[in-house]
Amino acid sequence: MDPREQLSEAGQRFVAAGLVVGSGGNLSARVGDACWVTAAGTRLDELTAAAYSLVRIADGAVLDGAPMPSTEVALHLATYRVRPDVQAVVHLHPQTSVLLDALDEPIRLLTTDHAAYVRSVRSVPFHPPGTSALADAAAAACADGTNCLVLRQHGCSVLGPDIALAATRALNLEEAARATYAALLLGRTPPVLAWDSCSRGSAPGGGYPGGGAPRSRGAGGF
Ligand SMILES: [Zn+2]
Repeated sequence: MDPREQLSEAGQRFVAAGLVVGSGGNLSARVGDACWVTAAGTRLDELTAAAYSLVRIADGAVLDGAPMPSTEVALHLATYRVRPDVQAVVHLHPQTSVLLDALDEPIRLLTTDHAAYVRSVRSVPFHPPGTSALADAAAAACADGTNCLVLRQHGCSVLGPDIALAATRALNLEEAARATYAALLLGRTPPVLAWDSCSRGSAPGGGYPGGGAPRSRGAGGF
């Protein structure tokens, strides 16, 4: 499938799940030494093949498609440069993840889905949207293999080896944040589940990345 079609499908799921409002957020998928990234001003639930720019990762040159890529294109390019394993980047504005991070409240990974897909979350200090400072800070934060970043008072940047897994991670990140939020409202601190503690006993082929047979479409969860 054309990665643009996959990104467009994911965009509809993100909007339906409330992970972005209006024209916020942007998506990309690597294609060789370039990436398709959503164009400036697009809405994630109304993406067509014409709503993408093909941008060279090395220098940001627009090679094809819409002439104006997303204002956050630098974030995508910087991430691809430091993470050769990453094939898809989703930048969204998930409200509960952003709220907890702004309050210095860690997002707890409560369920096996959270632990398996999210693994760990890192906070990126605030920088204005669309700046190279934000792109550089996010690239530094994910260089060690972390796939789920919360950009302070802005949104998330979630990475994956394919579009499906990046999308499932992003959905699980916000779900974990919502569960954390609910627990805090109850005056409780939710227990945290580390992936190491539940992967050993999981059924073969359980569908989680890194545990059981490789499978990129969300097996449990979403
Ligand atoms: Zn944003």
